[in-house]
This record gives sequence, C-alpha cells and structure tokens, in this order.
Amino acid sequence: MITLAFIVSATLAIPQQSAPATALEVIRASITTDAIRASIAELSSDEMGGRFFRSPFAEKAAKWIESRFDGLGLTHGATKDSYRQAIDSNVESGPNLVATLAGTGPGYIIVSAHYDHLRPKRSGDDRIHNGADDNASGVCGMLEVARAMKALAAKGQGPSCTMLFIAFNGEEAGLLGSRAFVKSPIVPLGEIRGVFNMDMISRGAPREIFIDGGSVGAPVVEALKRANEAIGMKLRLNEHPDWLDRSDQGPFLAKKVPAVLFSVEDHEDYHKVSDEVSKIDAGLAAETAQLVALAAVQMSTCDFTPRADDDKPAVAPAVKP
Ligand SMILES: [Zn+2]
Repeated sequence: MITLAFIVSATLAIPQQSAPATALEVIRASITTDAIRASIAELSSDEMGGRFFRSPFAEKAAKWIESRFDGLGLTHGATKDSYRQAIDSNVESGPNLVATLAGTGPGYIIVSAHYDHLRPKRSGDDRIHNGADDNASGVCGMLEVARAMKALAAKGQGPSCTMLFIAFNGEEAGLLGSRAFVKSPIVPLGEIRGVFNMDMISRGAPREIFIDGGSVGAPVVEALKRANEAIGMKLRLNEHPDWLDRSDQGPFLAKKVPAVLFSVEDHEDYHKVSDEVSKIDAGLAAETAQLVALAAVQMSTCDFTPRADDDKPAVAPAVKP
C-alpha cells in the first residue's frame, strides 16, 4: 500500500492545462520588486565606495556587473572573450561593459545604464555617495530586462533581433563611456533600432516615469506607448528637452540613433550622500524595467531598414560665397 503522502504528491504532480503565458506575464514573473531592491542595495552599498570613475571601487562594481551577466547566461559583447570595452587609452580608465543576447533578425536593440557615480565627500560622518537612484537603479533595471529577455527566450518568445546590454562608465565625468561607444561602435550605428537608457528610475511619484527622446527618439517612444497600453504607467513624455544630452542617450541622439532617457526629476538626495537604498521606490524601478522589456521585445519583431550610417549631416551645409 502506498502512503497517503505519495497519493497527494502524485495528484499535485498532474500538470494543469492552461493557456501559454503572455509576454507581459513572463516579464512580470521575471522582474520583481524584491529582487531589484536587493540588487540595488548591493550595488549601492558602502563597500562599493561610490563607484567613482577611475577608482578601485568602480572596478569592484564592474566585477559585480560581470558576475551578474554571467549568472544570467549572457554572451561577451565587447570581444569574444570579454564584456570590457576600453573607453580610452588610459589603462587606469574603467571600461564599458557590454553583454549580448543573440537574435536572428536584423538590427540591434540597446538597453543601457551608467554604473559610475561620485567621489566621497571630503568630510562628514557619512562621506560615501552611494548613488542608489543614480544610478544603481538603472543598472539593476538593465540587468532585470536581461533576465526577462532570457525568460522569454526560454519560452520561444524572446527578442527577434540581437540585444545589447551595456553598463556605461564615466557618465558623471562627461558621458565618456557612451561617447567612446559611438566613436568606436561594436555594431553599426545605422543598424541600431533603438536605445533604452535608464538613469535614475526609483524616485518620485508612484508608477510615473519621465521619458525623453525628442524627435530622433520618436520611434522608441512610440514602442513604449504601445507597450504601456498593457501596463498603464503614467508616462511623462518629452517634457525635458534639456535632459537629452545629460545622460548616455545623448551621444546616440547626436548620431541620429533613436534613443530615449528614462529618468525622474532631480530630488533632494540627487548627487548627495543621502541617495541611499532606504529612499528608493523599488516598485517604480521594477515596473519601468518591465515596460522597457515589453517595448523592446515588441520592437524587435517590427520591420526594420538600416539607416544610412555615415557622418554626413542630414542637410548639406550652405556653400560659402
Ligand atoms: Zn546618472
């Protein structure tokens, strides 16, 4: 005679017949508020020392991000053997970190965030600029989008085109990492369908995010509006043209690559040592990452014709008399 426990467990093991999960259901199961809060807490901890450019702390953060890329099963994106893209010839400079998830369709989609922040204050009890919102939130959002893409791919619903996940360095020092990327791009700039750049996504009004891309970023904004029909966040669109060159989407927009910035209003802890994980709205970061994931996977299946990829200005300069 088998035990009652066996009968119960055998009954429970019968698979339930149910409809396949939608892309949004897979994304919501993959990107959770608790997980993103825990990741932001690690990346903005005092041990990371503010992750300031050209410091051992930025290197520590780089190694942390690389281990996350590995854990997600992503592929080296800078070279065959490395995530690291040098941003200049100074060996002390920290690299950009580039991971990929290969697709078969044409073009590329970039999800990005900068991982550097600021030097410690010279005095005071708390001197470390933790940068929980700026920009551990964006980096962890980027990593969560990657997690959702892997989960979708495992169900045969992954992105059609190749995804690039990029942690830029040197943003606070003048967009150095993203400038280096567009100067020596890993993929042709004309084949980039869109750039989703997250820089501060965990403060402000609940379920509300600012998205700025101007006229060049319009195709990405359209994809986000469509995806948001199923999500229902409050999108504050193109209210801050002054932000367009304030983060790593700027160098892409200058090269006519459709790109947008996800951000929140500058807050009382912006660039202060009090930008700590205890202050963040992890739900806002999680939902913003869900929106990016859904928009990106939908965008990856749209028709795409590469743009002319050259440095000629769109309008020929007037001939001098
Ligand atoms: Zn920032």
